Amino acid sequence: MLQHVLSRAIAGYTRHVPLSRVQLLGQAHSIVTVTTCLQGSHRATPIRKIHSTQSPRPSSTHTNGNDTIYALSTAPGRAGIAIVRISGPGCLEIYSALCPGKWNPKHRYAGVRTLYDPSSTTLNILDTDALVIRFEAPKTVTGEDVMELHVHGGPATVKAVLSAIPRCKTSSPVRYAEPGEFTRRAFENNRLDLAQVEALSDTLSAETEQQRRAAVRGNSKVLGRTYEGWRQQLLAARGEMEALIDFSEDQHFDESPAELLSSISAQVNTMLQSIEHHESASHRGELLKRGIRISLLGPPNAGKSSLLNQIVGREASIVSQEAGTTRDIVEVSLDIRGYLCTFADTAGLRTESTPHPGRKLEPVVIGVIEREGIRRAKEKASESDLIIALASVEPLPHGKGWYIHYDAETINLASSASRAVLVVNKCDRLSKDKLMDLLADFKSEVGAKADNTPLVTISCHDALEKSGVNEKDPGNIHYLMTQLVEVFKNMTGLPMEMQDLLGVTERQRQLLSACSEHLDDFLEEGKERDGRECDIVVAAEHLRSAANCLARVTGRGDAGDVEEVLGVVFEK
Ligand code: GDP
Repeated sequence: MLQHVLSRAIAGYTRHVPLSRVQLLGQAHSIVTVTTCLQGSHRATPIRKIHSTQSPRPSSTHTNGNDTIYALSTAPGRAGIAIVRISGPGCLEIYSALCPGKWNPKHRYAGVRTLYDPSSTTLNILDTDALVIRFEAPKTVTGEDVMELHVHGGPATVKAVLSAIPRCKTSSPVRYAEPGEFTRRAFENNRLDLAQVEALSDTLSAETEQQRRAAVRGNSKVLGRTYEGWRQQLLAARGEMEALIDFSEDQHFDESPAELLSSISAQVNTMLQSIEHHESASHRGELLKRGIRISLLGPPNAGKSSLLNQIVGREASIVSQEAGTTRDIVEVSLDIRGYLCTFADTAGLRTESTPHPGRKLEPVVIGVIEREGIRRAKEKASESDLIIALASVEPLPHGKGWYIHYDAETINLASSASRAVLVVNKCDRLSKDKLMDLLADFKSEVGAKADNTPLVTISCHDALEKSGVNEKDPGNIHYLMTQLVEVFKNMTGLPMEMQDLLGVTERQRQLLSACSEHLDDFLEEGKERDGRECDIVVAAEHLRSAANCLARVTGRGDAGDVEEVLGVVFEK
């Protein structure tokens, strides 16, 4: 009975295996002008806006795959060039209507043409010197016939061309593309797998150099091919087990069930190791894509806000900012030398119990609001990928010299964080020699806790006051940033041969993790326990589940991920 169920499951499963996995995204690179036709040029929202206000045909909700679709692929507004992309069976008819009497341009060749209004009998010119490029199915970006019209980018010209296209005489309907419809067709025609669609989504939203790098890696076909290869391997192994289940009683097999299981287990173990690499690489890729979360921690007045201002002023550009109240957390997303970083400038941390080790200063009284600010700061620190623990040079009472003021809890948080950098600010307050002495004391006080943590001395004051002066790195801020970038590299770097793994997304990581759980179950089932033989039917079922997870990664399984992932892309 179980065997029957299993066979049905296989039959159901294999129906979803794609016939062809040829994915030739790269056709656009073969001629120079076509570089603009990469997928990312579709901008869903602006396209809709232009169409609804300017084009005579409103965007249709009817999405018949046989329709010819068109859209403005470049950003709306005044520009030198605008590109209109058309995909579907009506491309040539549209060409003939817009360029009457002209030879069809050769596949993948650009032709300079005058475009005419298709409904005018007096050859009303829409645009002169337009560049027309034709791509013949199936090796096109959507897998269908595609045509690109590179027209002058004035809003009136674009409007005239867009409104002319649906008036061309064609044998099948022509309509404005739904958001993301070009990508959907590419996916449906096997030009892209789901991993590539996700990478496309990342490419569209990449704001920093490192985000772009990670997205480009995911765009390569390497990941999809790898997962498909693993899936095929699991299916083949399962097939052998199935044969054993079905025919072992009637036929002679070279391998005993135990031998077969042991050879499959060896393959599964190797696969599990590779999955582990992919999972850990995905964390690094995620850091690049979603940004490195950094908490600036330290006692009040250590100079956290001053440091953030210095970083923003000279070393980074703001990507986005979320203001908090004085006791709340201010978050700023910055592009620091290509790395997206979200800085949380937290409330100052101080503790009633351990105010200043070794020094008699007035006891600290912490009010309710400040306590809440501190709680939030700690919470933020625990979610961070990196902690910058700030201390500062402060005067001892009665002019008795200087000391390095730090918060013991901040140092504890930094020492237990996966990554941290210690920063001592206000170093302008004393000479280099005296600073060295203080640093030696400071290191011996916090030493054991922060042994492997880099320590950088800075002065936000000097950075501000001496910025125009002929000094290379006033206040040492540039050096601090170089140290931070080194930490970023360590957190996100991968050896050259593993760079493609940066493209593994969080969704893929979760599916890989589920896949490895099924593979673990398979290995567990394969073990002989208390003289009990393994249930080969159950073991085969674990392989099927594992293979199914991999199918969902590339979007060729029965799962609902396809719509979910495409939906995310379309939103962008
Ligand atoms: P936060 O409470 O940690 O955010 O500290 P702030 O950035 O608001 O700075 C607290 C005080 O220290 C302000 O009066 C700053 O002008 C001063 N300050 C900040 N950085 C330096 C520095 O490098 N040297 C000196 N002498 N004062 C500084």
